[in-house]
Amino acid sequence: LEVNKYYEVIRELGKGTYGKVDLVIHKIRGSKMALKFLKKKSTKLKSFLREYSISLYLSPCPFIINMFGIAFETDEYYVFAQEYAPSGDLFDIIPPQVGLPEPVAKRCVHQVAIALEYLHSKKLVHRDIKPENILIFDKECRKVKLSDFGMARRAGSPVKRVSGTIPYTAPELCDTSKHDGFCVDYSTDVWAFGVLLFCMLTGNFPWEKAMPSDTFYEEFVRWQKRRTGAVPSQWRRFTDESLRMFRKLLALEQERRCSVKEVFAHLGHRWMLDGTSGNH
Ligand code: ADP
Ligand code: MG
Ligand code: MG
Repeated sequence: LEVNKYYEVIRELGKGTYGKVDLVIHKIRGSKMALKFLKKKSTKLKSFLREYSISLYLSPCPFIINMFGIAFETDEYYVFAQEYAPSGDLFDIIPPQVGLPEPVAKRCVHQVAIALEYLHSKKLVHRDIKPENILIFDKECRKVKLSDFGMARRAGSPVKRVSGTIPYTAPELCDTSKHDGFCVDYSTDVWAFGVLLFCMLTGNFPWEKAMPSDTFYEEFVRWQKRRTGAVPSQWRRFTDESLRMFRKLLALEQERRCSVKEVFAHLGHRWMLDGTSGNH
């Protein structure tokens, strides 16, 4: 199938080792859409079909990127079409070292939480929650959608302890030396969601890796375990209410981690102490 016959490429939206995502105009429909090209060299047909069918299955949720039911292949790529998000991804709008204004962050988080709740209700785990995979339709995050189901798996299916993207990876997944039967679990997304929240509100990562060798992580672990005493320095900008939420989202043992629903109860509370991220 010749892509250029049906689609006119406007520009590239994303690129990686996997392939690329292009903004195109469908010549017959006259509408814009995003085509995701996955290199056949690095993608098995099975993985492509899994990503495509999971995305299609979840499309009814208004907070998940809409798939158009178009999939085809070229000599080099497997391709599917999805709705175009005109403002790109969340990563690009988080000001480094500063974070998003609290109302913007909350609006975004609220929508992502609904998307995750929906996904989890369908017994699926995303496994790659991060700002790059949250697509935005306007810079104020009035409309955002969860995307990229390339890592998504059914809850309970056996996997190796390696997943997602490093700063967002839960502690039980960081220790890749353990080879016992590990299963896909919702708590992976809940942890990543907690890290995502921290990133959105501060413009920093809470730690590099959730491993004992990371000082920032160790400080957090000590605080989590003691339940009293000084809050680690990067966490001092948060209110007590939001720290209670973080403690549940970032519970060290995956069995103790709350469900993503917990976030809704905290949306009405103030999260940041100072003005830099708050009163916009
Ligand atoms: P990968 O599986 O390689 O991470 P993604 O599906 O996450 O691929 O897409 C990579 C990047 O391309 C995203 O982080 C985003 O910036 C951009 N992108 C992907 N899909 C769209 C879309 N539908 N609309 C706008 N930008 C998109
Ligand atoms: Mg991605
Ligand atoms: Mg992916």
